[in-house]
Amino acid sequence: MSGWNMWVPFAVPLAALFGLLVGSFLNVVIYRVPLMMEREWTLFAKTHLGQTPTAAELQPFNLIKPDSCCPQCQSPVRAWQNIPVISYLLLGGKCGSCKMPISKRYPLVELLTAALFALVAWQYGWSWLTLGGLVLTAMLVALAFIDADTQYLPDQITLPLLWLGLLFNWNGGMVSLQSAVAGAVAGYLSLWLLCWLYKLATGKIGMGGGDFKLLAALGAWLGIGALPVVVFLAALIGIFAAAAMRVGKGQQFAFGPSLAVAGWLVFAANQQVAAAIGWWLRASGF
Ligand SMILES: [Zn+2]
Repeated sequence: MSGWNMWVPFAVPLAALFGLLVGSFLNVVIYRVPLMMEREWTLFAKTHLGQTPTAAELQPFNLIKPDSCCPQCQSPVRAWQNIPVISYLLLGGKCGSCKMPISKRYPLVELLTAALFALVAWQYGWSWLTLGGLVLTAMLVALAFIDADTQYLPDQITLPLLWLGLLFNWNGGMVSLQSAVAGAVAGYLSLWLLCWLYKLATGKIGMGGGDFKLLAALGAWLGIGALPVVVFLAALIGIFAAAAMRVGKGQQFAFGPSLAVAGWLVFAANQQVAAAIGWWLRASGF
């Protein structure tokens, strides 16, 4: 550790800079992964039904191909227009060719990722916890936005997040491997059970399978002991978010973003969250 100490002051700005670049990539993930899934389903269904896919449906479409272009005029995004945040400011928030406004969400996702990366590095310095935390953060940002957009948490992200959490705790990165495995199982089962009971009581489905997998992944990263706090925090955040967004009765509301925020808070502010909950329990007389 001591040899690395002199580098700790560099960890935060370096993480922020790296966060800008990763945020730029996450914008592609958030936009393309749902489209990639839709194309995959279409191809699967057509093949299954013996129909011939169209030439457009057979074109490669992944995180790299085709190159990014303006959705309105199809003019390609050039290298200098791909610099996180700076390009957005240089272009004045408009497409360089047709002047169509570019969504503010692109620079916001980049700035958010940079801020979250900086906070993780500030909390954990130059360590494995920071490295793991950056991976966790990036994947949670992608999941939160995809779920908010589409009400869907893709297996392509939740399942790798789960086994990356188990690997991270192989030698006790955050918690023991036993706690991580138990957390993954309990995370899945607890929401599954809740959903099943809710369905028995009301005849409605309150949550999606993606939520079970996301909580399983958070259990793998944070251990079984953190799960009650994650669920409690996520429920609080969800209630406030639904109220703020004026979600009506019977309207769909994505729970994934609340779970992602709660999981990230528990990871990044581990001791602080534990202290705050301890204080709250004492103050309320438990
Ligand atoms: Zn354009």
